[in-house]
Amino acid sequence: MSPIDDLPPLRDVIAAHDLAPRKQLGQNFLLDLNLTSKIARQAAPFEDCTVLEVGPGPGGLTRALLASGARRLVVVEKDPRCIPAIEEISAHYPSRVDIRNLDALQIDLAEIAGGKRLKIVANLPYNVGTQLLLNWIAVPAWPPVWDSLTLMFQKEVAERIVAQPRGDHYGRLGVLAGWRTEAKILFDVPREAFTPPPKVMSSVVRIVPKPAPLAADLSKLETVTAAAFGQRRKMLRQSLKPVGGEQLLERIGIDPQRRAETLSVEEFVQIANAI
Ligand code: SAM
Repeated sequence: MSPIDDLPPLRDVIAAHDLAPRKQLGQNFLLDLNLTSKIARQAAPFEDCTVLEVGPGPGGLTRALLASGARRLVVVEKDPRCIPAIEEISAHYPSRVDIRNLDALQIDLAEIAGGKRLKIVANLPYNVGTQLLLNWIAVPAWPPVWDSLTLMFQKEVAERIVAQPRGDHYGRLGVLAGWRTEAKILFDVPREAFTPPPKVMSSVVRIVPKPAPLAADLSKLETVTAAAFGQRRKMLRQSLKPVGGEQLLERIGIDPQRRAETLSVEEFVQIANAI
């Protein structure tokens, strides 16, 4: 039995359901319930909201979320092998878990939220983590249906999400995240905390929506950041040639000799709005 509930230890769950981790599904499981409880506490409180967990796997974080008070927890798991393990957890917490055997890249957040505010918590599969985050940021209407994202990423990705201008990690992801959200790294998680250990260290990031971000056309912002950071060592007059280059930059008062890494998020939005 575990310290947080009467369910069997996760190693027994993995053995009973034959959940040998699959690399192509980004399966690096967290078996330390102290750690999963720490993540759940950071995402709480859960009163009066829907909690979405992407990729519950054998259910370590799922159990911590339920023990921390999640009343309506939707779990979206692509691997059908994990579903019976999550059904056992659901039986232990009747009427609180809604299990979906789906690809999280395809889900409709408003439908999952079911009319309540949404908190998303996940030890994300690394192969789709960045794309999921972009999906959740790039929604047409703002503020979004979610109130907070508490997510585990590879540390290097976490650093790109929270990066500021002139920082080593500042790039397209930092601009897109910084445009609509406030993000901070809560704590790092060493490789050994996972089974099997991934190649690199991980970090838990907390992301909340900015109430009133600058208006911008997302596809134009993506075009500008892709062009500017695609040639990050070049001056903007060169890297932004395809979208108007020197003329456009001078028209909006941005020095064409600057480089992408020196531009603030607001300046990227200004350029996107001018093309
Ligand atoms: N939450 C568990 C934990 O902390 O031990 C497992 C985390 S593991 C890093 C990622 C989980 O996401 C795996 O269970 C994997 O099967 C699942 N997964 C991978 N790709 C997915 C996708 N596109 N949609 C939903 N789940 C996915």
